[in-house]
Amino acid sequence: MVLLMRELRAHAAQVPAGEGRGLFFLRKYRCACGGLLEAVAGSTLEHAFELSVTDAEPFTAILALRRHRCSSCGREQARSGREIAAAVPELVRTLNDAAGFPHSG
Ligand SMILES: [Zn+2]
Repeated sequence: MVLLMRELRAHAAQVPAGEGRGLFFLRKYRCACGGLLEAVAGSTLEHAFELSVTDAEPFTAILALRRHRCSSCGREQARSGREIAAAVPELVRTLNDAAGFPHSG
């Protein structure tokens, strides 16, 4: 489980993401170019990772995030690294369910 989390976090760190700036209630999310990120309604950004953990068969994990588009350069990305990190435990739960492993919660 720890190895899986480590692998997923390493792959998730490569997903393009904006950065939140400003106080919590006034926070704006911006692209690396400085443009504001806007959520694309009803659209999901999916990143597929090929994983090979210990002696299990290699498999594909798909990290699904809300799609955001930069209002300046048009680059599609996740809202923030924090949002990506928050999605990893849900992905682990989904993978555990798919593999038939018991878990709490
Ligand atoms: Zn941009």
